[in-house]
Amino acid sequence: MSKKGERLFGTNGIRGIPNEDLTPEFCMKIGKAVGTFFAKTIAIGSDNRLSNSMIMDSVIAGILSTGVDVKNISILPTPAVQYYCKKNVMPGVIITASHNPPRFNGIKCIDEDGTELERSREEKIEEIYYDENFHVATWEHIGREVEDNSAADLYISGILEKIDAKAIRGMKFRVVFDAGNGASYRTTPELLSRLGVSLVTLNANPDGLFTSRESEPKPANLRYLMELAGSGEFAVGIAHDGDADRAVFVDERGNFIDGDATLSLFVRNYIREGEKVVTPVSSSDAIDDICREKGAEVIRTRVGAPVVSRTMIDRKARLGGEENGGIIYGDHQYCRDGAMTVGIILDIMARKRKKLSEILMEVPEYHITRKTFPRSGDFNQVREKLLKVFPDWERDDTDGIKLRKDHDWILVRPSGTEPIIRVFTHSRSLDSSRQMCEDVGKIIS
Ligand code: MG
Repeated sequence: MSKKGERLFGTNGIRGIPNEDLTPEFCMKIGKAVGTFFAKTIAIGSDNRLSNSMIMDSVIAGILSTGVDVKNISILPTPAVQYYCKKNVMPGVIITASHNPPRFNGIKCIDEDGTELERSREEKIEEIYYDENFHVATWEHIGREVEDNSAADLYISGILEKIDAKAIRGMKFRVVFDAGNGASYRTTPELLSRLGVSLVTLNANPDGLFTSRESEPKPANLRYLMELAGSGEFAVGIAHDGDADRAVFVDERGNFIDGDATLSLFVRNYIREGEKVVTPVSSSDAIDDICREKGAEVIRTRVGAPVVSRTMIDRKARLGGEENGGIIYGDHQYCRDGAMTVGIILDIMARKRKKLSEILMEVPEYHITRKTFPRSGDFNQVREKLLKVFPDWERDDTDGIKLRKDHDWILVRPSGTEPIIRVFTHSRSLDSSRQMCEDVGKIIS
């Protein structure tokens, strides 16, 4: 797949097209490198993409050849695999392409604390891979594969422990949930059942072609869920992305709730005085307003869930998350977790005994417009131009370039994986954030 020295793991694991990039031979070699690197029993799970058996069996064969045993925990949401790893202090491999289109698949490695592997440790795996420095077990020491079906229950029980399940059961919520043909088809309905929810499911049949809707949980892909949630019958509508590390919500009126507002709601209701919240430079100023009011500190990072998780661990922060529906609750585990987020939002609704649209009014109102533009040429030219057009705006170089004046800000960053530039514009009013986005778009083109 790649030339020597080239990076294999992107911001969220290895991604590619099966039998083009992800051939059985390549996947087996990755398995050999991973087994050699960890040198102890590895858990392996997957989402429900069509090529999973081919990729998983190839990775497993590679791992077993190094003399390392495998626990096969089968089809699960990514955070359920991570929770299994954390609870069993075991490294893991997940076969998933998250929210990407159906033709993609991917391989990602988990450390034995359940978090995504640090970059420096991924580099060691890449080194073993390119040098073909694999451990080869003699015939009597070849690894064994064991199936373990306990992961889903372990995961759901872990979530139930961290919320007021009794109060939620008392509310007898009626919920509509869209699994989007993804890996959450079993676990999130099971969690909701155990919370006494009366449930209507949409697209809860695992389907690697994702025939019902695209996997990214954005309004354009959730029209039917929004329509149903707004019918007056439901307290909330819920959807995940394909591997269910993210959750998005629709209120009882059928309004899609921006991931930023969900994150703010979480922080507002779970933060304690003196604590820290970790979030990338791309999420809204609402987090800062809430933390100021609660006597808490905000730590801003580069964009990307693994960096948020790592910073949370390093800086001893319990709460964190991104503006795309990826909430990280350190009391549970240091990674984005869709079903945990569902538990948290129902917990807040049960505690407040108010409608979701009413609870959302607690969150300071800001608007972020997000858009991508094709990138041609050097990003530094874009940076220089922006600095010229906005000379007196406060500059932040944490990720790409962020320019701020009061509560208006612009974040422009090149994508690490595609030839595109991502633009975020933030303001008190929707019109103004849209206008700013258009203006920045013109500057880029
Ligand atoms: Mg995902």
